[in-house]
Amino acid sequence: MSKIMAVNAGSSSLKFQLLKMPEEELITSGIVERIGMKKSVFSIKVNGDKIEETTTIPNHGNAVNLLLEKLIEHDIIASYDEIAGVGHRVVHGGDKIADSVVLDEEKIKYLEGIIDLAPLHLGPNLTGIKAFQKVLPMVKHIGVFDTAFHQTMPEEAYLYAVPYDWCKNYKVRKYGFHGTSHKFITERFAEMTNKNVEDVNLIIAHIGNGASICAVKNGKSIDTSMGFTPLEGIPMGTRSGNIDPAVVEYMMKVKKKSVKEILNYLNKQSGYLGVSGLSSDSRDLVEATKKGNHQAKLAIDVQAKRITDYISSYNNYIGGADAIIFTAGIGENAKYTRANIGKRLSGLGVEIDDERNDCRGIEKKISTDNSKIDVYVIPTNEEVMIARDTLSLI
Ligand code: ADP
Repeated sequence: MSKIMAVNAGSSSLKFQLLKMPEEELITSGIVERIGMKKSVFSIKVNGDKIEETTTIPNHGNAVNLLLEKLIEHDIIASYDEIAGVGHRVVHGGDKIADSVVLDEEKIKYLEGIIDLAPLHLGPNLTGIKAFQKVLPMVKHIGVFDTAFHQTMPEEAYLYAVPYDWCKNYKVRKYGFHGTSHKFITERFAEMTNKNVEDVNLIIAHIGNGASICAVKNGKSIDTSMGFTPLEGIPMGTRSGNIDPAVVEYMMKVKKKSVKEILNYLNKQSGYLGVSGLSSDSRDLVEATKKGNHQAKLAIDVQAKRITDYISSYNNYIGGADAIIFTAGIGENAKYTRANIGKRLSGLGVEIDDERNDCRGIEKKISTDNSKIDVYVIPTNEEVMIARDTLSLI
């Protein structure tokens, strides 16, 4: 039995889970928030209860020290030696990293060299990795990358139709994100249906606050809706998804704003929030839709339309999917949204069964027996995927 720590470090937060492997049992989870601010908050689950305290945590190094001390204080581990390895969620692996890797000096240097590809997330990820490596130098640290699963996309899928040297010299191309989740779902579907992963053809709709669709052929990602950044693709909680890039210049002009400000609108004030003018949370929108709110319904419908556009096109691209999978916060929980998307897929012969669809957060087939493509809900688990890869590399 090994205890593996799965870590997700942001600019001011650090989420962690400690898992018992290979059993894949969650031992504890927690989060350090507001790192570097006046009042930092540390919370951890002990025997099912959430314990929270407010304290001062100036940097990520302090956060790691505190979290390890708390594991000992709450009798979750007896000493640091019990932690067999640490798996770090890393947002970007550039065009060189196609799988999880041991984070040695060379890999860290490579990642530092591509920070510009994801400046808001990769920098904080590296800060978290280094903080953990300093406190736990005796174990291996593994990087598990949001982009890695999509490195199998063919050139025709990842290349934008822009001057070729943009990709060659400046690494401008589609990378895709949520790869850890799409990989988890692919493996889980293979397991559920007793197939080899190489025989699995899927369309995965990972719909949470962030959302992406993935086309999986023979167990590999061959296209996905997010691109150079997570802004591309379908509309999300606060992101616009695809728009004509000329809108950026036009809105800069009429609103007298900078590129940065307009991109901020596209990232933080668009999607569900922008269209509804109400909320970025799908629960609020479903509730308002039921009360007759036009813009709330529109926000859901604009996304559903784009999701079905991707699903239809990916079904063609992979030559017919074995199944369509719904996952993540909305995919796992929002039956209204699943039914809405299902209806729009009638052209593909998809039929959602209302009774089967009346479920939340469980693994289940929700299509009718007559449906031409099976539709499932499968809860994702990125932390388990991180812990699996970490276990196999230590
Ligand atoms: P993130 O991308 O931040 O990881 P999540 O996967 O946690 O996002 O998804 C968050 C979304 O899931 C929110 O829009 C939330 O409203 C939605 N969600 C969670 N539970 C439900 C539910 N019961 N019904 C509808 N939507 C839900």
